[in-house]
Amino acid sequence: MAVLQMRYFPDPVLRAKAIKVKDVNEPAIQQLIDDMIESMHFYQGVGIAANQVGSRHRICIIQRSEDEEPLVLINPEITRRDGEREVTEGCLSLLQYQGDIVRSEQVWAKAIDRHGKPVKFKAATELLAQALEHETDHLNGKAYTDHLRSPDDLYQVKSEDELTEDEAPVSDS
Ligand SMILES: [Zn+2]
Repeated sequence: MAVLQMRYFPDPVLRAKAIKVKDVNEPAIQQLIDDMIESMHFYQGVGIAANQVGSRHRICIIQRSEDEEPLVLINPEITRRDGEREVTEGCLSLLQYQGDIVRSEQVWAKAIDRHGKPVKFKAATELLAQALEHETDHLNGKAYTDHLRSPDDLYQVKSEDELTEDEAPVSDS
């Protein structure tokens, strides 16, 4: 397993729509899943999408709670949303900021697991619902900042100086 380099906005890979995985049994896909889990833990996130580590595959990982196995979702699609609530959100690819946005109260999704088995589920907790919307947004080339109702709802929580060299946004050159 390896920790993969985190991508930061405005990296274009974060604006690209992910491509569906055709064969989950490919060794490269299984390797990517393991590396994404290790990277999520390394960067201390509760979820990670493949494009955040530079891959175009439609895969995301969600850490439901500390003592549960991470949820591996391949080709995830949200099939239904219900309700609205305001949440504060942050992102591993935009470390300096947090924002207040509206997310759904309940979310239903379908995906396949890492063994190729189709799974259909309803997010049983608000945290899982939020993580599902956040990570599938990434795979559709979106960010939580696209949901801001006003620029004032985005605020800085860390200054540029506090970021390590690894975390600094890649400048367009
Ligand atoms: Zn994110």
